[in-house]
Amino acid sequence: MLDREVTIKEFHKRLINKDFSAREATDFFLEKIREKDVEIKAFLEVWEKEAREEAEEADLKIKKGEKIGYLTGVPIAIKDIILKKGKEFTAGSKILKGYRAEYDSTVVSKLEKEGAVFLGRTNMDEFAFGSTTEQSAWQVTKNPIDLERVPGGTSGGSAAAVSGGMAMAALGTDTGGSVRQPASFCGTVGLRPTYGAVSRFGVVAAASSFDQVGPITKTVEDAAILFKAIAGKDKLDSTTVFQDFSEEIINPDFKKIEKLTIGIPKELFDEEKGIFMGLDKRTAMEMKKAIEKLESLGIKIKKISLPNSEYALSCYYISIFAEESSNLARFDGLRYGAEKIREKNFRKETLKEIYLNNKSEGFGDEVKRRIILGTFVLSSGFYDAYYGKAQRVRKMIKDDFEKAFYEVDVILMPTAPTEAFKIGEKINDPLQMYYGDIFTVAAPLAGLPAISIPTEGLKIKKTGLPVGFQLIGKKFKEEDILGIGQFYENI
Ligand code: GLN
Repeated sequence: MLDREVTIKEFHKRLINKDFSAREATDFFLEKIREKDVEIKAFLEVWEKEAREEAEEADLKIKKGEKIGYLTGVPIAIKDIILKKGKEFTAGSKILKGYRAEYDSTVVSKLEKEGAVFLGRTNMDEFAFGSTTEQSAWQVTKNPIDLERVPGGTSGGSAAAVSGGMAMAALGTDTGGSVRQPASFCGTVGLRPTYGAVSRFGVVAAASSFDQVGPITKTVEDAAILFKAIAGKDKLDSTTVFQDFSEEIINPDFKKIEKLTIGIPKELFDEEKGIFMGLDKRTAMEMKKAIEKLESLGIKIKKISLPNSEYALSCYYISIFAEESSNLARFDGLRYGAEKIREKNFRKETLKEIYLNNKSEGFGDEVKRRIILGTFVLSSGFYDAYYGKAQRVRKMIKDDFEKAFYEVDVILMPTAPTEAFKIGEKINDPLQMYYGDIFTVAAPLAGLPAISIPTEGLKIKKTGLPVGFQLIGKKFKEEDILGIGQFYENI
């Protein structure tokens, strides 16, 4: 009834035609979750009862002849870091176990107004630190396309839910790649909006000057629909500054899109071989094919320079360690859930002992590593050498993009250097894990929007895993990257 090929527009059309009711559609997805998620483990919690009620509300609206939008009755999943009132949220961490959201995040209330159906919350790396979803305190999510491989991270549960046909679409968060990289690994689309395009209110903060909520979907068009619904100014998040994303985001004018120019950073490109550097063979070939396909559509491709690219990864990690360690200070195990830990440690002698025990038990290894490193780079003796310097480099990287965007409209690069790797392969080597983010960290450092698009579109090849290419756009020019993406996917 609602297999992988059905897009949100198609769903909407069929719903209006009464091919199925929203309730039937929701039941369909709940059944799929029951059937497949025992193995894939994308969901941490499924909200069956509420989802059915929300679907029935959508059906009632249709019955009454009320005007409905594209998202009415559409079953979606949200990452375990995006609050929905009354529901438990853990951000993938033991320290938040038992914490219930006391209010809706802005993105959730916006989708509620659109009449979307919330299927449940999805697995993630603890506090959105990681790249595989293996660092969740709760479970390891598998890549639905190859069950021995990781789905990517940190929004791996969301990507697996969509890729596995267990949700029409999902929301993730992207600090340095957590929407785009799992999208690439699972054969879905992932959009990281411009910093300030989408409200972060009610989303647990990882690194505040980087975090954005973004859609993970089957098609670029679906991503556009979801993005338009969640974007906009919000008085509860003062970094949201932009209101009017045009209708063209959803229905692009391809005559205009055709005239855009795409830049390829020469620092990342091997001119002689005609491929991006440092990629596995399949990713390199897929990038080549994607570029050729874009050229065949009449889009101009041009070499540009991002001279400070080589510093992006270190600049990113120093900056986020600092922000993450500061944000995590509030989780002391005395507030926000953590009942079990609190009960056990409450009889300890001193406050210091209670803190020490709560944090030792409540946080996983990667979180501890980042708290220690972040505290170090912010400490008075080393602030200038690390955090201060990283901020100056961040400015240089921003300037590089600004200059490049005088010459081109959009910049293309791979999303990840490899296809999805095996579960367990990188878990004991944090540096290897960080290296995998080499292409996704630049856009968030510069606050720019970026999208990962599967080179093969919706199809899943029997041979080989999916691979995504990435388009980075100018600030608040989501319409360019979404436009080219839809142009690409239409053929
Ligand atoms: N893998 C990156 C990190 O560990 C990105 C995570 C994210 O975007 N939340 O920081």
